[in-house]
Amino acid sequence: MKTKPSSFVSPDCLFCKIVAGTIPANRVYEDELCIGFPDINPQAPAHLLIIPKRHIASQARCTAEDAALLGHLMATATKVAQDYSLDGGFRVVVNTGDDGGQTVNHLHLHLLGGRHMKWPPG
Ligand code: 5GP
Ligand code: ZN
Repeated sequence: MKTKPSSFVSPDCLFCKIVAGTIPANRVYEDELCIGFPDINPQAPAHLLIIPKRHIASQARCTAEDAALLGHLMATATKVAQDYSLDGGFRVVVNTGDDGGQTVNHLHLHLLGGRHMKWPPG
């Protein structure tokens, strides 16, 4: 199977524009594969988004070839949680597709913390 290059971007994608810097975001984390920045509409005292620099529309488009990148995003969420001193715990959410409540079609991890989370989510 042919894989997309690590620099792949989608021209009309909001988060690709944040990666490119044409839409501003406060990058609280950045490395060669991903960035982290605060959600514009926070749902918890700490609400960060961790996104790959490469455009992937959603988790539904991920395959075993993306396993290393997905693991890196999870490990990055842990690191950012530590940076934000979320010692009491935190939640990582990946909304996927219409039923999953996804509104931006570029894979992203929500990192939520700083308050007690309820279960099940709405
Ligand atoms: P989803 O609903 O797709 O799981 O999450 C998309 C998230 O992106 C939402 O929580 C929304 O508040 C956030 N968001 C949408 N537009 C922007 C933006 O321009 N900047 C930032 N920082 N977050 C955004
Ligand atoms: Zn994108």
